[in-house]
Amino acid sequence: MAARATDILNQTPAGLYCPLGDFHIDPVRPVPRALITHGHSDHARAGHGAVMATRQTLDIMRIRYGAEFAGGTQRAELGDDQRVGEATVRFVPAGHVLGSAQIVIEIGRCRLVVSGDYKRDEDPTCLPFEPVACDVFITEATFGLPVFRHPPIRGEVAKLVRSVALFPERAHIVGAYALGKAQRVMALLREAGYDAPIYIHGALEKLTDYYQAEGIPLGEVRKVSVTDRAKLGGAIVLCPPSAAQDLWARKFPDPVTAFASGWMRVRARARQKGVELPLVISDHADWDDLCATIRETGAEEVWVTHGQEDALVHWCGTQGLRARPLHLLGYGDEEEVGTGEAADTEADAA
Ligand SMILES: [Zn+2]
Ligand SMILES: [Zn+2]
Repeated sequence: MAARATDILNQTPAGLYCPLGDFHIDPVRPVPRALITHGHSDHARAGHGAVMATRQTLDIMRIRYGAEFAGGTQRAELGDDQRVGEATVRFVPAGHVLGSAQIVIEIGRCRLVVSGDYKRDEDPTCLPFEPVACDVFITEATFGLPVFRHPPIRGEVAKLVRSVALFPERAHIVGAYALGKAQRVMALLREAGYDAPIYIHGALEKLTDYYQAEGIPLGEVRKVSVTDRAKLGGAIVLCPPSAAQDLWARKFPDPVTAFASGWMRVRARARQKGVELPLVISDHADWDDLCATIRETGAEEVWVTHGQEDALVHWCGTQGLRARPLHLLGYGDEEEVGTGEAADTEADAA
């Protein structure tokens, strides 16, 4: 390596900073120039000077924050090298949500890849993760413990379809995060042959409309009106996780409460949230996929940004890789809090 990785990317209170390119990645405070991996609000915040991101991430930020979300924007074409200061950067699909990207930074002969959030599981609503060979891989670790092994996704969706068949008089209220998870559940239901209209809470409407406008087939989606609720026995209704647990959900006929989240792997958590039908559907890599991805990149050095950093750092050591936890602050887990739809509070999660 000609250049040192820690000179290429430093840790600052606002987040990861590249001095030679003079930009931050997914900064948690307003900065002059931000490169943004994806639209979840703990990574994509309003108020930066200039924002570079994929077209879809820019669109999603506009939908969430309004047209004035940044001083200026620059579209990053997937796969194209772009010069930012003395750095060359490239956005590559991360498979997390629509528009999500890893950010590749090259300076001298040193290549770093910042994963942002990612998954390797199939997702009909976004482009799949593309591994990039690199010297330093900077990975998330939301589910970075060996206990987290996500089951096959089709089996989870089949559970929901089966439950609707079994209880045709009960409404099925599925808590799902507004950006990505809700649309993925809808697309997977369609793939499983479910063809009745799918109902959504108003908080999911704008992003769901956007996915459909981007050509993601979700079938017939109807917004729930207040007067509808009592009539929706047997229907599947998607809503923000918070709404699934409040009064709103209780107006449906004998509701079955479901929750689509990687955290549903933890039974105690499902019980504690009063979830009758836990669906282990995650937009983050599980333990096996984190480890496999690190190996695939061929990186000799791994930095772990947020989530369960320590177990993954330890595992890297057993593989002969240099690794360190960054313990980046300000990145919540939208899946855990899951209530961010109205107020975008998912960023507050620990
Ligand atoms: Zn995310
Ligand atoms: Zn994240």
